[in-house]
Amino acid sequence: MKRFCFDLDGTVYRGKTGIPTAVTFIKALQAEGNEPFYVTNNSSKTREQLQQALHAIGVDVPVSNIYSSALSTAKYVAKHYSEAKVRVIGADGIRAALEGEGIMVTDEGEVDVLVMGIDRTIDYKRLAEACLTVQRGAKLIGTNEDIRFPTEDGFVPGNGSFVRMVANVCGVEPLFIGKPSPVMLEMIAEEHDITRHDFVMVGDNYDTDILCGINYGCITVHVATGVTAPEVVKSMPAQPTYIVEDLTKLPRL
Ligand SMILES: [Mg+2]
Repeated sequence: MKRFCFDLDGTVYRGKTGIPTAVTFIKALQAEGNEPFYVTNNSSKTREQLQQALHAIGVDVPVSNIYSSALSTAKYVAKHYSEAKVRVIGADGIRAALEGEGIMVTDEGEVDVLVMGIDRTIDYKRLAEACLTVQRGAKLIGTNEDIRFPTEDGFVPGNGSFVRMVANVCGVEPLFIGKPSPVMLEMIAEEHDITRHDFVMVGDNYDTDILCGINYGCITVHVATGVTAPEVVKSMPAQPTYIVEDLTKLPRL
C-alpha cells in the first residue's frame, strides 16, 4: 500500500479554505483505511493547531500523523542533543515543541544549540545576540530554509533569510530540518515503519515539497494548486514522478 504525505498550504488548503479535490482524495484514502501524513514548514503552529486547521476544512486526522518543522526540529534535537541547553528564536510552535520533547530552553548563559524559527517580532538586538551565541560555539539549527513568503502585496522574509544572515556573519553552515531537507520524511518513515519505496510526497512547491521527496528518494506528485506553476516544474533538471493539475488527475498508485 502506498502511503501519502501531503504538504498543507497550497496543497490541502489555501488560507482557511480547503482545496476540494485534495479533501476528496484524502477522504477516499481514509475510507480505505490508509491514513495519510501531513508535513509543513510552518513552525509557528503547534500540532494541535494544525489538526484544528484541518478539522475546519472537514479533514479529521490523528495528531500523530501531522509533522511540522517545529515538531520535527524538537524531535531531532531531542535525539541528537538530548542533554543540551537550547536557545530559541521563534514563536509558540517551536518553543512548545522543544519543551514537549523535554528540552531545556533557556535565555540565560551558554547554550549548546541555537534553534531559529520564524519570529515576526525579530529585531537587530536579537539577531546580534544570535550571532554571538553561535560564535561561542552553539550549533545553528533552522526549522526551515524558506527565504520568502508570498503575500497579496508581494514577498516578505521567511525564516531562512534570518538563519542565512546569522550563518553568514558567523561563517558556519546551518542545519535545516524543514523541506527540502529529507529529515521530516525520514522521521515519519522511521516512526511509522514505512519504506521509501511506498512513500508518496504530494505538494505544490517545487523548491520545498518536490525536492524534499527527491532528496529522500520517494515518489513525488506536483499539484498545480499553489506556488509553482507546472511549466516552471517542467523546466527543472530533476523532475517529479507526476505533475498533475489536481489530485483527481493522478493515476491510481
Ligand atoms: Mg505548499
